[in-house]
Amino acid sequence: MRLANYQGRASIVVDGCVVDVERASGGRLTSDPMLLSDLDNHDALRAIASTAKAADWPGLVEARLGAPVPRPPKGFGVALNYKQHALESGRELPTEPHLFGKMENCVCGPFDEIIVPAGRTEVDYEAELVIVFGRVCKEATRKNAWSFLAGVTAGQDVSDRGEQFRLPVKQFTIAKTYDTFGPIGPYLVTTDELANPDALELEGRLSGEVMQHSNTSDLIFDVPALVVWLSRYITFQPGDLVWTGTPGGVGEARNPQRFLHGGDVLETEIEGIGTMRNPVVER
Ligand code: ZN
Repeated sequence: MRLANYQGRASIVVDGCVVDVERASGGRLTSDPMLLSDLDNHDALRAIASTAKAADWPGLVEARLGAPVPRPPKGFGVALNYKQHALESGRELPTEPHLFGKMENCVCGPFDEIIVPAGRTEVDYEAELVIVFGRVCKEATRKNAWSFLAGVTAGQDVSDRGEQFRLPVKQFTIAKTYDTFGPIGPYLVTTDELANPDALELEGRLSGEVMQHSNTSDLIFDVPALVVWLSRYITFQPGDLVWTGTPGGVGEARNPQRFLHGGDVLETEIEGIGTMRNPVVER
């Protein structure tokens, strides 16, 4: 299924049309898009999707899509999870995942503005696969890891490098969780829609130029490894998010460096999920 937050309402995209979950269920399910990431609702959503007649519903206008998980209870990002990005950052390949927080406030929609605060000159892009937890998860194993996930979406882990690496203490979480620094979307795609959810092409484009291109099969710590590692001591809930890391080609590692400026458009595309298109504004 392709699940969507359409104008603030839980929806399913069927044959290019938008099926409103609350209306289609006769009010049994609510309009809150957060219900989409709860696997307890997926049987009901599948029943709606299989019986809906697309002609009865309005055609999809992508610009009206919001974040498919607008209020994640918690979010994490993974630093240095592609070999190419670790090497371009001049760091040793990690032997275990390095994590930071991305809070609810940073989440915005796939076509929303990314706001660069006035005077911040080193705000960077990071195209990433984002996984969405779908049920309570603690002490997952490699074998059952995917079964805890409602699906996947695309995301950006926007980062203020000036703050992230400012000494004496590096501040990854603060630098990566400013308002609007976590766009996700355009859809929450259930894994049964994807031929191989562990191998998805991923591309980041800045104002039309390809800056990042890779495949999630190049992750140093793949999705099951991250779920296992994170759930050792932390209980996950439906709607929790993990930004799984970015491949090479980020702005700070380029020569010359290339950061986000007002007027830029940041596109993030993942195979089988779709393309986000976020304009950048300085404010
Ligand atoms: Zn990242």
